[in-house]
Amino acid sequence: MNPLSFVVPFDVPAALAQIRAEGARFVAGGTNLIDLMKERVMLPQRLIDINRLALDTIEDDGHGGLLLGALARNAATAYHPLVLERYPLLSAAILAGASPQIRNMASNGGNLLQRTRCHYFYDVGVPCNKRAPGSGCPAIDGLSRQHAILGASPSCIATHPSDMCVALRVLDAVVHVATQEGERTIAFGDFHRLPGEQPHIDTTLAPDELITHIALPAAPRFAAHSIYLKLRERTSYAFALVSVAAMLDIGEDGLIREGRVALGGVAHKPWRVPQAEALLQGAPDAARFAAFADRLLEGAQGQGGNDFKILMARRSIVRALAMAVAGTHNNTGHGSTVMTRGAA
Ligand SMILES: Cc1cc2nc3c(=O)[nH]c(=O)nc-3n(C[C@H](O)[C@H](O)[C@H](O)COP(=O)(O)OP(=O)(O)OC[C@H]3O[C@@H](n4cnc5c(N)ncnc54)[C@H](O)[C@@H]3O)c2cc1C
Ligand code: SF4
Repeated sequence: MNPLSFVVPFDVPAALAQIRAEGARFVAGGTNLIDLMKERVMLPQRLIDINRLALDTIEDDGHGGLLLGALARNAATAYHPLVLERYPLLSAAILAGASPQIRNMASNGGNLLQRTRCHYFYDVGVPCNKRAPGSGCPAIDGLSRQHAILGASPSCIATHPSDMCVALRVLDAVVHVATQEGERTIAFGDFHRLPGEQPHIDTTLAPDELITHIALPAAPRFAAHSIYLKLRERTSYAFALVSVAAMLDIGEDGLIREGRVALGGVAHKPWRVPQAEALLQGAPDAARFAAFADRLLEGAQGQGGNDFKILMARRSIVRALAMAVAGTHNNTGHGSTVMTRGAA
């Protein structure tokens, strides 16, 4: 038996005071943390239920952007009229994940902090550098179908499982954080870490910091040409093997003025290379998209079991960009997903 206390603060200062206790953890929807506790992967000594904090709103920021509360549920976010109108890509990405029941519980803040789905991480009977630093990484010579092809290290080849975060990366979201010392912001590209030699640290958020909001800057030029393409083993309830969030600003002359692309399922964080995106400017043709895909995937390396992901990612990028040129799919049903098995 592990002793566990449970507290319910009613405001942010009270929550921040509680998190200083030994072994304390925030819990929001609990859809990831409680699973990890049941598997004994994470064993907090104190749970701080943050659901009474007034952080569940979705508001216009007064400049054409939105402020998403950390405790707004994934479903409420995906179906919010302003999200659908301004950021259909975000809506599609959220709805491509999990199931309706889970999206009703899952919070925006918790989605950012969900942990990898590496099966060795979930199995406390085997070593894992992310769970027990210094113990080893059995995935490298083991089952690696779900694992990273970009940005991995000899310590860890895990991927970040979120769909929502891939969209937030191309939308240049900013994470707002409350700390004992005040407030700070983290650019989304700096929020998740690559594993390096410290794969047990997933993000740049300190353990005693609370996510309060996620800010989305205005992006009206992209709303008409955006897509979230997710390839996975089943059409529901499966994490991405590869996913692509793509958005294009296309001028009246039909030329791409600006393009942004991020990948999910391939790295320890949503994978984006902003310097490569200049390659997307000009006529929207397959050769341009293929050259961009090669640049985005530069350095990609498989572990055997996931080698197929390199070609799958290349083809998915080209396909997603062509779909984005054709126009945004307002897919509020199941997300723009494609089932695959062994396909590349
Ligand atoms: C069967 C299943 C299938 C799934 N499929 C997908 C999928 O296809 N795609 C996908 O993207 N996701 C998927 N998910 C994951 C799901 O989206 C996440 O579990 C969910 O978003 C986590 O949110 P939560 O509020 O439940 O987090 P919790 O479980 O409550 O918390 C997760 C972590 O975040 C911390 N935390 C929560 N809120 C804050 C905050 N405001 N500030 C600081 N720390 C905080 C907690 O301490 C904890 O460490 C799936 C989950 C399940 C169970
Ligand atoms: S890939 Fe990372 S999470 Fe998976 S076993 Fe290796 S160290 Fe653990």
